[in-house]
Amino acid sequence: MSSGCDIIVLRVDLSQRCTSVERLPLQDAVRFLGGRGLASRILFSETGRGSDPLGDEAVLVFAPGHLTGTCAPTAGRTTVVGKSPATGLFMKSSMGGHWGAGLKFAGYDILVVRGTASRPTYLLITDTVVQFGDASHYWGLDVRETSRRMAKELAMPDVDVACIGPSGENNVKLAGIMCTYYHAAARGGLGAALGAKNLKAIAVRGHTPMRLADPARFWDVSEQVRRRIVATGRCKFYGKYGTAGVVVGTNEMEALPVQNFRRGYMENAYSISGQCLTEKGYLVRRESCFACPIACKRYSAAREKHPGSEAGGPEYETVAAFGAGCLLEDMDDNLRANELCNILGLDSISTASVIQWAFESAERGVVPEYVDDGRGGRIRLAWGDADAVLALIEMIAYRRGFGDVLADGVRAAAQKVGGDSWRWAVEAKGLEQSRVETRMAKAYALAFATNPRGPDHLYGQPMAEFGFSPEARDLVRRLTGDAKYADPVITDHKPKLVAWHEECFAMTDSLGLCSRATLSTYAITPAMMAEMLSAATGLEVTEDEMHQAARRVINLERAFNAREGAGRKDDRLPWRLMHEELPNSRGIKAVNSEEELGTMLDEYYDIRGWDRDKGIPKASTLVSLGLGDVASALRTATAAREPSQAGKP
Ligand code: SF4
Repeated sequence: MSSGCDIIVLRVDLSQRCTSVERLPLQDAVRFLGGRGLASRILFSETGRGSDPLGDEAVLVFAPGHLTGTCAPTAGRTTVVGKSPATGLFMKSSMGGHWGAGLKFAGYDILVVRGTASRPTYLLITDTVVQFGDASHYWGLDVRETSRRMAKELAMPDVDVACIGPSGENNVKLAGIMCTYYHAAARGGLGAALGAKNLKAIAVRGHTPMRLADPARFWDVSEQVRRRIVATGRCKFYGKYGTAGVVVGTNEMEALPVQNFRRGYMENAYSISGQCLTEKGYLVRRESCFACPIACKRYSAAREKHPGSEAGGPEYETVAAFGAGCLLEDMDDNLRANELCNILGLDSISTASVIQWAFESAERGVVPEYVDDGRGGRIRLAWGDADAVLALIEMIAYRRGFGDVLADGVRAAAQKVGGDSWRWAVEAKGLEQSRVETRMAKAYALAFATNPRGPDHLYGQPMAEFGFSPEARDLVRRLTGDAKYADPVITDHKPKLVAWHEECFAMTDSLGLCSRATLSTYAITPAMMAEMLSAATGLEVTEDEMHQAARRVINLERAFNAREGAGRKDDRLPWRLMHEELPNSRGIKAVNSEEELGTMLDEYYDIRGWDRDKGIPKASTLVSLGLGDVASALRTATAAREPSQAGKP
């Protein structure tokens, strides 16, 4: 509820149907940076090794950033942290919109949910009440209908609802948590974790203003940041075309993942781009999350097919996954696929990934060409078949027919189906890869391999390696000594770039800012974040201290995975991206290799102070970050796994 005094944690126990409030010292907002950092601290402390992500003991932490709800530009975001049902490892997933600000205005900085409700339940959190409600009549409804009915029945037209769709109810491991229909904490199956708790929705509304330690200073620095954002060319680009605007440039680089990452170029990429969306009349309106001057969000409607179909987005990841990945070249089909994922509560990246895998498996004869649709019919698995894609999305959400094979993710599907199908299951750590071609971008390759979530762009996002803007080239020059290292196909100095971007991302999430402003465009710098946090809390924090706190958060998250037994052996890239060359006209040998990745991993682990062989934090590193208890927990876990190691540091 405030950025300038104690952190208020609301704890909800669904099994006991009770709540409590805890206060954390404001200093923790500097030590762990706020939102995500504190959530990761809570998750580590309150989750046992080997616990079931869908069990009673699972903990989900909803953490708006420390600045969420203030006028800091883009400070509207919320990170949800938990153990992933998809990977069994650490997961953080971030959503925009206004929900996080709503929780703050209701008086709470962080929400911790544990236990399992005995029947479908919703939570209502306002300035005056924290209330459990019966959600039996919402169970089975899609996200849009749930949100609309809740607002009506609560007589709160402006309530913000985070909820799950049918996929979360059915424990589909591709299920996300949706907010206001189309903002999503999509990755890692956290929607399934909420479904397992019988928690359909969390509605928030509040009116308590945020308190800041030094409002005048905070206003000044926020205004400087806002001016810089609106003057940054890349921010203008995202405002004009949305994230899907990058489809065209990515395709020109021959790095658009086409047909399950077999190719990097699509003839008619314009038809699925943000430019097409804007110029051909699909765009209904631009939208913005709380306090964001960029307004990259779209609200779009189908024009010719799928009458009445409309939804937020689509984002780059969605059109790249369905349009390029499944070969749906018609924007109307992409819009409908996006709408279905949103209202059924599915992660569009993972959903499109399992569908591509199914198409390729049918093409290669590993699964039948026609599969059971769960309703007495059959559908044909064929590239570019929009009817099949749309049917499969629903089949996955309801675990119907062949959809049940896909509903636990592509790794599980390949294990069920067998044969060589794991080779074209584009995943690592159990998470489907987001739409970045790492064979053409070596910092991304390293960032995807080391990401505790799996191969995904929202943990490190080292975009500077492309050198696409003066800000990006300047950053590379500062980190490496020469802007010539802003070259995506070389490996030199890439570990340094990855480490810096991961730290910047930890700051971004923890403060509740948007990575579009900090990492996609470099409009907001760590120094600016330090200044905003100092003004908000009254505790002076330097840029170096921000990086140190970010390292603390990253080490905690790595330690969570290490306690589960994960380490260097899991810092992998999908098989296809390690073994099959990406065709390209530039004569580049575009493939990742063990040798290349191994060399970058060694250097990266050294930078982080992690054990090179195991790829886990050294005890000395954890202790130097003030995480002695985490070092002890790791030692205990190692001793339990490897009795001969007992007593060794
Ligand atoms: S840049 Fe886009 S996603 Fe980020 S806060 Fe602004 S509108 Fe939301």
